[in-house]
Formats: sequence, structure tokens, C-alpha cells
Amino acid sequence: MDIVGNVLPQVLKDEATEDKGEMARLQSFVGAIAVADLVKTTLGPKGMDKILKPTGPGQEMSHITVTNDGATILKSMYVENPAAKILIEISKTQDEEVGDGTTTVAVLAGELLREGEKLIQKRIHPQHVIAGWRIARDIALKRLRDISTENDINSQEFHDDLVKIARTTLSSKLITSDRDYFADLCVNAVLRLKGSSNLDYIQIIKLPGGTIRDSYLDDGFILKKQITIGCKRRIENAKILVANTAMDYDKIKIYGTKVKVNSMDKVAEIEAAEKEKMKHKVDKILKYQPTVFVNRQLIYNYPEQLLADAGITVIEHADFEGMERVAAATGAEILSTFDAPERSEQILGHCDLIEEIMIGEEKMIKFSGCKKNEACTIVLRGASTHILDEVDRSIHDALCVLITTVKNRRVVWGGGNSEMQMAAACEEEAKKVQGKQAFAIEAFAKALRQIPTIICDNGGYDSAELIQNFKVELQKGNITYGLNMTDGTIGNMSELGVKECLRVKEQALLAASEAAELIMRVDNIVKCAPRKRERA
Ligand code: ADP
Ligand code: MG
Repeated sequence: MDIVGNVLPQVLKDEATEDKGEMARLQSFVGAIAVADLVKTTLGPKGMDKILKPTGPGQEMSHITVTNDGATILKSMYVENPAAKILIEISKTQDEEVGDGTTTVAVLAGELLREGEKLIQKRIHPQHVIAGWRIARDIALKRLRDISTENDINSQEFHDDLVKIARTTLSSKLITSDRDYFADLCVNAVLRLKGSSNLDYIQIIKLPGGTIRDSYLDDGFILKKQITIGCKRRIENAKILVANTAMDYDKIKIYGTKVKVNSMDKVAEIEAAEKEKMKHKVDKILKYQPTVFVNRQLIYNYPEQLLADAGITVIEHADFEGMERVAAATGAEILSTFDAPERSEQILGHCDLIEEIMIGEEKMIKFSGCKKNEACTIVLRGASTHILDEVDRSIHDALCVLITTVKNRRVVWGGGNSEMQMAAACEEEAKKVQGKQAFAIEAFAKALRQIPTIICDNGGYDSAELIQNFKVELQKGNITYGLNMTDGTIGNMSELGVKECLRVKEQALLAASEAAELIMRVDNIVKCAPRKRERA
């Protein structure tokens, strides 16, 4: 090999290098499996947490993250191996698409490659492996869809299912002991969206202090700002104008403006002109007849005074998200020019009551009885910011899954049930297929079965025995059975209430098999030379 390598003329230029055939494939397998193994121990309700600690100077301890969320761990990893990057990418996509199953997808892809590697060692060509995997994937997907059930959106069963799904998602998280409490909270929040899938309308406010149990869902909308001094603190039947406009009158907002004057009087003149302009703007705003004025930008004393004098309550410097949410909740339009007061009725937002409230030590503004009541607020309390951040991530997962479920409505049993059933389907199929592909289909089944195996192992249970018992139960026709992770036995999931959203499983299956296929196809890794900067 070496001699050939030396004799071959160098094809690639400068710093570019190439890894070929076996070496390239091995590198990819090793990278991907290493990444999957890293998150493996966090899988399932008894999975362990990881501490992520930034390196380098200037990174204080306060930046550490304690988490159990696959996507969060993988996202913060800094890897060079290209296959490892692919796995990180699919986990991220899973997080964005459905919000949960981020560990599952990476682990499944890793296990597929582990099985794939064995096949390659048996001298089965990657193309046969891929062809087999494709058959297996379709069979698994079909079985997964067949075992899923659908409920009517307004039925009590569906509501119960949502709570169960939220509980399953939360059970692998820090707040597992409070999961019933948070499951209800998340379900109520999502149902308030009335079918809209915009997660932005659920605002999460994190306030250190108190305990996790002090967290609650506020039926109004809370803005983390204060009402400007000198205005009314309690407004009933509010008409709200939401704006994004400059209200700082002494700044001339054009870059490069230079004004030369030769006396103080002239300066005063300019100031007076600016003031006049501001007054004009305020007059225009007043024509809309709002009772509350929310602006994204700062408001200076003079316009503030004018507005307050007109009896309007002013809220300034509402950041962009806050402002958009206020607009969504109250049904207001966001204005930056004020030339259509005749449309005021459509433009202004409405709510029954605006008042200042105290949460912990902080003053905030609460909007109750909003016209478009779509937005709501979850106030999270907890002993430290690390806990709050992890609770936030967990709640986010649950909310995403719930929104997906409301859209899709199909559910499957959790506790490894769906994976075991998919594996069984693949094995049945493997018996019928002729040729080498059958090995690949069997390998697919094995990889799927690794998910419940790992969940068991992470709980400290005897996985070999449990998985065998699991198989037997399914064979007997107990198709709702799964892992009971409190007792370390096989139990009825419908009694334990462990349910999952079909979309999460579907997406995990598709993404993992796609990524594994992609990595399996690799037979060459070319490192491109960095592009040099052109000299100017
Ligand atoms: P992911 O990031 O992939 O969602 P998790 O750590 O949340 O990983 O683990 C999810 C797996 O744990 C799913 O396969 C699910 O069926 C299983 N699981 C969750 N809760 C339970 C439970 N209470 N009993 C048994 N299995 C559970
Ligand atoms: Mg999960």
C-alpha cells in the first residue's frame, strides 16, 4: 500500500488531503458511534445528566449547563469528525422539527452504524446494506403507523393523551418528580393557543427564587417591563397602541449630519424645532385615541410628559419579542407611522385590565382578558439559574411535542413499545427476503431493539432478561406492554400511562436511517484546503 501511495503522483494541492475506502469508512463509523455513545447514557427516564463546561479563558463557571437533553449536549459539542457532525445535525433538526426524541435519533443512527460495520466486516457491500435498510425502514414505518391511534380533538381521551405525552416527555428530565404538575401546566398552555402552532405566543419568564413548584401558568399576558412614572397604574378596558417609532427628540437620526451654528440662540432654535416635530408626532398619536401606548424604543421626557398629560399610560422600551406578543395577545397592529387614525378601531389592541404586579421581587405588567387571548405566560421559579434553564428546556420540549400532537393527533405507546414492534416487523420481513439484504434488515431490527435495551441499562436493570420477556409479551399479543421503569419489569403501558407522539417516532426513524445511509455511502473523505484570502 505504502509503495503505491508513494509512487502515485500527488493529485491534491497544498494542504488538501484524502482518506480512501476502508480508512474513510472506518473514520466515519468511529466518529458517529462515539457521538452516539456519548449521549446514550442520558436516554430514558433513568438517564443521567451531563455537565457542559465551556473551555478557554474568560469563561466563568456561571456558564456551565447541567442537562439531559440530547440536542443541547450535541449542539455544544465541538467536533472535527464529519460523520459526528452529521449526527449532531440530525439531532438539531429533530429538536427544531418536533422538539423531542433528540437523543433517540442520535442513538439509533449510532446503533445502525454499529450493526452496519459488522456487516461490512462480513464482506457485504455497503450498497446491499443500504438496500436492506431501505426495505427495513419502510416496513418499520408502516408498522409504526399501523399501531398508532387517533382521537377526536375535542374528546376527553385526547386531552388525557396530551397529559400522558407531556408526562412521558418530562419523565426523562430534571423535573420528573413534578411531572404531573408540569404536564397539566403545559397542556393548558398549548390548548390556550387554540390550534395555532406558534410557540412564541407562550412566553416563559424565569425568575430565580422560590421552588420549582411555585411555577405557574398565568392566564393573562405578562410583560417584563414597568409602567413609566407619572402614569396610571391600573387601566380598565384598555385600548392599546403598539408602536415601533423614535421618540427621542433631541437626536437627529441621520448619520453624518453636521450642523454648524454660530450662537447659542441657534442651538435653541434647532431644539425648539425638534420639539415642535415631536409634539406634532404625539398629536398624531393622540388622534388614535388610545389609553395605553407601548413603544419598542425609548421615550424621552418631553413626549412622555405630553402623553401622560393626555391621560395615556406609557410603556417604553418593550423589546421586540415582548412587543410582538403584546400585539398578538391584544390583537393590535404594530405601527411606525401614524397617518391613518380613521382605522384606529382595527389598529388598536384591546384588553379588560392592565395592572402592575409583583412576581418575586420584580415588578411586571399584566394584561388580563385580552381580546385575542392567544398568548399566555409560564412563570418558572427555582432555586438557581441552572435549574431554571433546564426546566425551561424541558418545558420547551414538552410544549413542542404537544403542539405537534395537536396538529397530528396520532399517538403510540412509549416505554420502548414502538421500537420493539418495529423490530418485530423487520424480523418477520427478513425471513421472506432472499439474498444478502436480509442481513441488513435483521441488523436494522437489532438497532431498533437497542433503544429499549439502553433505556433498561440506564436504569440499572438486567436488559438481556427484560428484553426477552418483552418479546414474549408482544408475541403473546399484549401489544400495549412496555418497560416499567419504576419496578424494572415489563408492564402495561395503558395502565402506566406512557404515551408518545407518533410524529416524534416517525421523524426519529426517518432521520436516523437517512443519516446512517449517508455515512454508509462514504468511501472517501477529502479535506479541502482552506480558501486563501486574496491580497487586496
Ligand atoms: P429523547 O431525547 O430521545 O426524547 P429521552 O431521554 O427523553 O430521550 O428518552 C425517551 C425514551 O424514554 C422514549 O423511548 C420513551 O418511550 C422512554 N420513556 C420515557 N418515559 C418513560 C417511562 N415513564 N417509562 C418507560 N419508558 C419511558
Ligand atoms: Mg425526551
